[in-house]
Amino acid sequence: MSEPLLRVESISASYGNISALENVSLQVPRGEIVALLGANGAGKSTTLNVISRIVRPTAGSVWFDGQRIHELPTDEIVRRGIVQVPEGREVFRDMSVRENLEMGAYARRDRSGVADDFEQVFRTFPRLRERASQKAATLSGGEQQMLATGRAMMARPRMILLDEPSMGLAPLIIEQIFDTILTLNREQGMTILLVEQNVKLALSVSSYAYILENGEVALEGKSADLRNDEGVRRAYLGA
Ligand code: ATP
Repeated sequence: MSEPLLRVESISASYGNISALENVSLQVPRGEIVALLGANGAGKSTTLNVISRIVRPTAGSVWFDGQRIHELPTDEIVRRGIVQVPEGREVFRDMSVRENLEMGAYARRDRSGVADDFEQVFRTFPRLRERASQKAATLSGGEQQMLATGRAMMARPRMILLDEPSMGLAPLIIEQIFDTILTLNREQGMTILLVEQNVKLALSVSSYAYILENGEVALEGKSADLRNDEGVRRAYLGA
């Protein structure tokens, strides 16, 4: 088997003396969507934050493209190609759509590549093109999610960490966002680690999934198998 693009090895993390993650291992193969699922407080965001080095692990290691990255600062991790789209989206509210997208490309020097990627983001999210000069604060929730995802794309990442893209959105908008996630993956080969509470949807777009409970991996497997797993259906799919 070839080396996965991202490999998280036995990480633990805590906030003060409260343990948030205990011995969590996971892998994301190149070009795949892997889902990280679990209830509120299970440790999903903390896992993403350890990968981005926003939270420092107390044990374990993180490997990206065969290199150890868990001791690097966050900006270096971004430079290596891992970009996180945080929960709650966090767009720059007083900036226009266009300025937000420019911020995504701040570390890049290849101006013509940046121009191409603007075009790519606007093709992926036509809504953002229409609203390019509108202030981010005035966008709807779904449009802000599109903007946050578009901003991540502007960094031309090798991998995106998506934290609950469906949160707070209407079903129709969620469908659009997930369509875009699939398009990003299929047409650009984007590798994605997807944190979601919407288990049904996450299992439908991912190839493999991990379920966290109380900071530990309680279950993992191919998404297609988990969709049919009796325990998963009962606990997470309301079946
Ligand atoms: P949710 O789906 O509700 O966002 P999650 O699975 O992403 O949950 P985390 O945000 O990773 O869960 O939280 C894991 C545990 O760590 C929780 O018990 C949470 O209260 C705790 N925690 C998270 N961030 C902090 C923090 N900054 N300080 C103290 N405790 C924290």
